[in-house]
Amino acid sequence: MKEIKNEVKDNRVNILELAKDAKVIGISGHMRPDGDCVGSTLGLYLYLKKAVPKAKIVLYLEQPSDIFKDLKGYDEIQSDFDGDETYDLFFALDGEKSRLGGAEKYFDSAKVTVNIDHHISNRGSGKYNYVVPEASSASELVFDLMEEVYVDVDIAKAIYTGIIHDTGVFQYSNTAPKTLNIAAKLIAYGFDFSEIIDRTFYEKTYIQNQIMGRTLLESMLFMDGRCIVGMVDRKTMDFYGVEPKDLDGIVNQLRVIKGVDCAVFMYETDTLEYKVSMRSNDTVDVAKVAGFYGGGGHKKAAGCTVNGTFHDVINNLSQSIAMQMKAYDSKSMT
Ligand code: 5GP
Ligand code: MN
Repeated sequence: MKEIKNEVKDNRVNILELAKDAKVIGISGHMRPDGDCVGSTLGLYLYLKKAVPKAKIVLYLEQPSDIFKDLKGYDEIQSDFDGDETYDLFFALDGEKSRLGGAEKYFDSAKVTVNIDHHISNRGSGKYNYVVPEASSASELVFDLMEEVYVDVDIAKAIYTGIIHDTGVFQYSNTAPKTLNIAAKLIAYGFDFSEIIDRTFYEKTYIQNQIMGRTLLESMLFMDGRCIVGMVDRKTMDFYGVEPKDLDGIVNQLRVIKGVDCAVFMYETDTLEYKVSMRSNDTVDVAKVAGFYGGGGHKKAAGCTVNGTFHDVINNLSQSIAMQMKAYDSKSMT
């Protein structure tokens, strides 16, 4: 039987103990929030509102995609970071504090901070840290820390949404027996999970499909077809009227091309600046590649922001990727 790796209990954080005397509690997640970030933060937000009704709870996130608008609490998300409130307790989810963007200042000034994350590159940036790289998602970890008496169908939906997004609907290797046990508990609350999967994970607008198609068409294979790169420049994004969140899913499509061990997708964020997303199989640890450029993530899915021309960026990344591939090849030959 496969070992259940993500059964880490030693550094668990007692959320309700920390929250019991807090008057104002803040929550945030990483910039450009993805499904796990939205699901974990909303799940915790709804949970704290219910379990600590005396406290004021505020959730800060950059404006998430409206595919998540049916989750309870979506309309209460604060995407304006102008205020200067001091929080008694502040949670950073699904990333270290430096990825909070505009909300980082609230974390810095808070009296007590908690960091809950599953990124291998995160060393823990709170007073209390629950960082478990083996966990499928921040959503799974947040659920792990919840007292189930307070969990309801809306919290379950948020957590479930987060888990399906970070596991690719229970497909990626971060899916553990524990992940599925939690998912089983969640669907028992009774919601239309297949609708959530379709509408938030698989469904894409016509424009999103068009830009994906165009990126695949213009993609380039390198390293004897073992790597692929796709790129979207500013001009193309403006032409289609798309935002970065409309590009979600392109890198996964590049990854499933037969023979490809490592997929790189990048889009232009500014003059000579690209946001890079990488996906791989066992051959390359893309968290290491991203870490080299100040980014991070997981072994098989990671990202970073890199400066230079498209060719500079891909040349640099490909050197790090090639080094790992060579090491992997020579190891597997012995
Ligand atoms: P994606 O390619 O989907 O944006 O991100 C893949 C994984 O890498 C996610 O877990 C994401 O949080 C992480 N990641 C993406 N970009 C960065 C980055 O710039 N810094 C860090 N630390 N992690 C990143
Ligand atoms: Mn995540």
